[in-house]
Amino acid sequence: MPETERSPFSPETVIKRDEIDRYLGSDGRDFIHDADIRAELAANSRPDAARIRDILAKSLAIQTLSGAEVAALLAVDDPELLAEMAQTAWDVKHKVYDNRIVTFAPMYISSFCMNRCRYCGFSLDNHREKRRCLSMEEIGREAEAMIRLGHKRVMAVYGEHPMTGARFIADSLAAIYGAKVPGRRPGAVNCVRRINVNAAPMDIADLKIVHEAGIGTFQVFQETYDHETYAAMHPADTVKGDYGWRITCFHRAFDAGIDDVGLGVLFGLQPNWKFEVAAMCAHARELERFVGIGPHTFSVPRMHAASGSDVANAKSTFTDDDFFKAVLVLRLAVPYTGLIVTARETKKLRDRCVKIGITQMDAGTRIDIGGYSAGNVGQKIDEQQFMLGDSRSLEEMIVDLARQGVITSFCTAGYRCGRTGGCIMDALKTGKEGTFCKINAVLTFREWLDDFASPESIAVCTPVIESELAAIKEQYPLFFPQVKARYDRICAGERDLYF
Ligand code: SAM
Ligand code: SF4
Repeated sequence: MPETERSPFSPETVIKRDEIDRYLGSDGRDFIHDADIRAELAANSRPDAARIRDILAKSLAIQTLSGAEVAALLAVDDPELLAEMAQTAWDVKHKVYDNRIVTFAPMYISSFCMNRCRYCGFSLDNHREKRRCLSMEEIGREAEAMIRLGHKRVMAVYGEHPMTGARFIADSLAAIYGAKVPGRRPGAVNCVRRINVNAAPMDIADLKIVHEAGIGTFQVFQETYDHETYAAMHPADTVKGDYGWRITCFHRAFDAGIDDVGLGVLFGLQPNWKFEVAAMCAHARELERFVGIGPHTFSVPRMHAASGSDVANAKSTFTDDDFFKAVLVLRLAVPYTGLIVTARETKKLRDRCVKIGITQMDAGTRIDIGGYSAGNVGQKIDEQQFMLGDSRSLEEMIVDLARQGVITSFCTAGYRCGRTGGCIMDALKTGKEGTFCKINAVLTFREWLDDFASPESIAVCTPVIESELAAIKEQYPLFFPQVKARYDRICAGERDLYF
């Protein structure tokens, strides 16, 4: 056990009570009112088709839906109406983000954790887990291994532990950004261009440290919005046991200058998944109210088997069809928000979700600590947080998507051009960002094909690039020459060109 594990770490030492209280209502309650959400779900359980079509029109106009409207969509069972919802979801995604899936890969940096979440292999109570925290050198090597596989976007993931506090996170981001790998062409250098972070809630001072280190999206999953389930899953004597500290973490993030946040629910923790969808949408509306900036992404992790966890290893009632419908309603409910479906899910389910407008998927994923640089294959339950459902390599996933006519994007332009926060909200809602998404997808995909793909993969993917270029020429004839000029420079070996 490392020395630091004995340092004081408890709700009393970590949580700043005043940094919760300032974000609560005048009645001292947080903004998730379980009984009201349940009542809204019940009151909207029999919507007629005309109302659903009105709601779909609102989604297509890229407007955030009200709680009652989300509840009505969640109540739809009629196959014809569900098909209309799926078509609208696809149209919404194309209007906001165009025809691309952004890809990334997680880097698990440490499995040490002081919390005892009942569903997680990293729980302090799980003595079977073989724990590891990467050193800065190891993080650099892990980044190099990911870069060699073709990754440009990394999701850095940490347990909650004094060893991996804000300073450690900031240093680890520098180690990842600092990793450089020679490319295929003489003189070419590849690197990670964007790092998102999935870590525990922090106080405002620590969030400022992480912000200044150059994070993309700051992700914290609420796991469950249901206060009672939350208390049952997270022991009260742990930091994570404080619902208020977690639910207010994005308010603190915005006050610390982070304007790009990612929400998530761990589906399967409790049977009432419709409540979780409705509550996550309420969280998004609360952020819109608070700063006028909603979440950049929704994540929909689903509980999978995990070392030492009775909860995670029990059979869940949450089915693939429930998952699909949750994603469908989220796509429509907050139309400008990106939607991430991770490799926790099978290829079959992820393919279904691509057709209803998800925007990001990881690939070639390893969640064992140091797994990329070790060249590990397969999965070992006692060396990772949970088990994965999709083990495709990055290249396999890209080729599969291309066969479905979908382009993979490695774009990191928005964050590097300052298109975040309030600025990106407007661009997303008006469809302007979709133009950048389309063009930058083509530029970054060309780069990736030339630097990493096999001749066979290039052959499958080339028609997608050609059809995207033809669409850009048709939609933006005046702008097209500039796009084509950058595309040609990339073909000639220049790198990192974007709009
Ligand atoms: N430790 C930080 C925290 O809990 O916020 C962040 C990292 S945690 C490693 C990332 C996420 O993994 C959690 O927020 C949770 O949603 C998810 N997770 C935990 N146990 C899981 C399981 N058994 N199956 C799938 N996802 C799980
Ligand atoms: Fe720790 Fe996060 Fe796992 Fe909970 S979910 S035990 S906080 S790593």
